[in-house]
Amino acid sequence: MRKIGLFGGTFDPPHYGHLIMAEQVYESLQLDEVWFIPTNHPPHKEDAKSNGILRKEMIEAAIQGHPAFRVNGIELNRTGKSYTIDTIRDLQREYPDTAFYFIIGGDMVEYLPKWHQIDELNEIVQFVGVNRPGHSMETAYNIEEVEMPLINISSTMIRDRVANDRSIRYLTTPEVKVIIEKSKLYQR
Ligand code: ATP
Repeated sequence: MRKIGLFGGTFDPPHYGHLIMAEQVYESLQLDEVWFIPTNHPPHKEDAKSNGILRKEMIEAAIQGHPAFRVNGIELNRTGKSYTIDTIRDLQREYPDTAFYFIIGGDMVEYLPKWHQIDELNEIVQFVGVNRPGHSMETAYNIEEVEMPLINISSTMIRDRVANDRSIRYLTTPEVKVIIEKSKLYQR
């Protein structure tokens, strides 16, 4: 069985927190691949500031050169709210001999009880939780924990910095920074 990590998020923009997190899980669980899945309409927060095509492009730029990281646009092609359970069911149908691991940070671990059809979801996929500053990993759900060095970077921080003409160097990759600048994303 192939072992694939699924990493859902808005990635608006992707940053080093995401990349470090994906790499730690990839290594600890000895996954074959990690698929980054940009969400279209997140159920739990506002839609992203930048469109799906640009966010997909930024993820591709962020993971370039990694032999096992991919982007999967499955949620961008679906209308309505992007429920994880629909994504998992579709992927399990499309890739039968595959064990999927759904990767989430501490804030999402705390939020799990509110996820759409969480009990069914918990039955069909293994959650992998990664620690995030300011959030606990306590949950009633069965999650496999992976440690990462605490990184207090968020996409919100990067968007705010761009809007205030502050530096985002070393918060995301140079390639992502180029796209943000070229496409004039997040400016006030
Ligand atoms: P925003 O600031 O726009 O809410 P974000 O930085 O939280 O965005 P998302 O794309 O929403 O990024 O996050 C995708 C996933 O990555 C979520 O499961 C989130 O918990 C996790 N994550 C993001 N940043 C970190 C981080 N610095 N440490 C640990 N987990 C993180």
